[in-house]
Amino acid sequence: MPKSPHLPKRPRWSSLLLLALGLTLLLIPLRYAAQHYYEAQLAEQNGQTLDLYVANLLGTLRRYEVLPDLLGDLPVLRHALEGQGDGSAQDAASQMLEDIRQRTGADVIYLMQDDGTCLSSSNYRQPDSFVGRDFSFRPYYKAAMQGQPGRFFGLGTTSSKRGYYFAAAVRDGARAIGVVVVKVDLDSAERLWGNAPEQLLVTDDLGVVILTSHDAWRFRATHPLDERQREQVNANRPYPTTNPAPLTLVPGDWLTQTRNLDEVGWTARILAPREMVERQVRSALYVGAATLLALLLLLVVMTLRRRHFIERLALDARAKRDLELSVEERTRDLQTLNARLQQEVHDREQAQRELMRAQDEAVQAGKLSALGTMSASISHELNQPLAAIRSYTENAVVLLDHDRLDDARGNLKLIGELTTRMANIIAHLKAYARGARRAPESVVLQGALEDALALVAARRRAMQVELIRDLPDAPLWVQAGETRLRQIISNLLSNALDALAEKTSTRRLWLTTSIDERGVTLILRDNGPGFSSEALARAHEPFFTTKATAQGLGLGLAICDNLLRTLGGHLHLSNHGDGGAEVRLYLLHGKPGVASVPQEEVRG
Ligand code: ADP
Repeated sequence: MPKSPHLPKRPRWSSLLLLALGLTLLLIPLRYAAQHYYEAQLAEQNGQTLDLYVANLLGTLRRYEVLPDLLGDLPVLRHALEGQGDGSAQDAASQMLEDIRQRTGADVIYLMQDDGTCLSSSNYRQPDSFVGRDFSFRPYYKAAMQGQPGRFFGLGTTSSKRGYYFAAAVRDGARAIGVVVVKVDLDSAERLWGNAPEQLLVTDDLGVVILTSHDAWRFRATHPLDERQREQVNANRPYPTTNPAPLTLVPGDWLTQTRNLDEVGWTARILAPREMVERQVRSALYVGAATLLALLLLLVVMTLRRRHFIERLALDARAKRDLELSVEERTRDLQTLNARLQQEVHDREQAQRELMRAQDEAVQAGKLSALGTMSASISHELNQPLAAIRSYTENAVVLLDHDRLDDARGNLKLIGELTTRMANIIAHLKAYARGARRAPESVVLQGALEDALALVAARRRAMQVELIRDLPDAPLWVQAGETRLRQIISNLLSNALDALAEKTSTRRLWLTTSIDERGVTLILRDNGPGFSSEALARAHEPFFTTKATAQGLGLGLAICDNLLRTLGGHLHLSNHGDGGAEVRLYLLHGKPGVASVPQEEVRG
């Protein structure tokens, strides 16, 4: 079994959840960091705003600080003080103060007599004119009369407008003959603040709110007043009420910054709602959470992709395993097949060996058969001359009985020739059997044909076979041996006669030749039954015969073919279009020479 390939671990959702939890916890430090950052930022901004505001407020106050002192030296004012009851001097002073008020931007400037009654005032023309009114209860009057600079915050008794009062005595030598007061409007200092979410809170030395951007806080005490302070309030009446309501601010709701205005004994505060920071912190948290969420989503997507990838890997691995398994299976099959093939090859080799052994045996048998063939051939070839000798002998006996000695001698001579021929045949068969080849000589075809015809002449006549010859007169020289050629032709003639024997009507035998550049063809045709199709295919084989065993040995055509091949020629068997067999004997051209007694014949 192949080992499964190492696959990366599948990502787990639980670990992802844990990671999400971890990431969420990150929001806590983020919250603190954001809060710290925004608080610091806000504190810096508000610090700057408060500094600016305080500088502006102090600047406004300082502008008027020295004015009462300077005005005290004006002759018009002194004149008014000195000529008390003189209306025109009073009016002149009031006009002067009105003029100075306009130029300095102060709220009201007025001149008091030493008893605290207002003598001249810049608002002398207005319905709420201070002229003739008693301000001796005001602390600034008291202070100025005692030679100290008068400073006071309070509401105007007639206008109810908040103001800061600067007062200085007008002196005649060491004696204070009157007091000059400059009231600075503070409402405008409050309006300066505008509509910012941060709130302004300015408290006086008693801790009571005198300037604020938040209406509800105005004139409320940031801490409870003690007895002395309450008495002070009762006496000076700086606020619209003698008992300021307490102001309680929840410290957690506000981010506060404080500046002390030592010159006036006030404290300025800027209060930023903590909600401002909280809003920004929340935004930062939202952004952080969104980033974390995006990160988580990215992780989820990556996780999904990884899972997908791992699953694909697993699938691939499984497919690979399956493939390996099927390859293994195929290999096993192939091995089995191979083993079977090897077995078959082995069996074949075994069979081959057996076949070769059988072949050896067959060859051995063939040799025996060749021996049989040989003896059969001998008997076959010798039977014809033997038959002829028998008939000559019988004739010679008859001739001797009739004292026809010459004729008898002629027969005996023929017998002698036949025995010579028989000896020749035997010698030739021996040569054939040995496979010896004698070099072909030039032989005249017509001569061999005549000899062969002579051998079968008696039988042909007895069978009344018509012989039709169409041969040229000029000798046709062919490459052959005299005996072998005669033997071949006589064999063919005797086959033709055998075939014609089966016929009852006119028996004919045609003998023709054809010549071309290669050689000479002798054509033997009969009007017998012709070759059967089996005979056409197998007649060359030794021992193929369609004749009764007594008649045929099946050696004639085999010997002829064999002999012809040794002469460079060949035999061709066919049937003629008009019926009957046609045998063609192909022979090579021989060198023309002198027709003589065949050399191969052995004469006894
Ligand atoms: P055999 O004559 O002993 O049978 P051959 O080899 O001479 O042997 O002839 C083989 C066979 O060829 C014959 O048995 C015969 O069937 C056929 N054959 C030969 N010559 C002729 C012919 N002229 N006409 C018809 N058949 C022939």
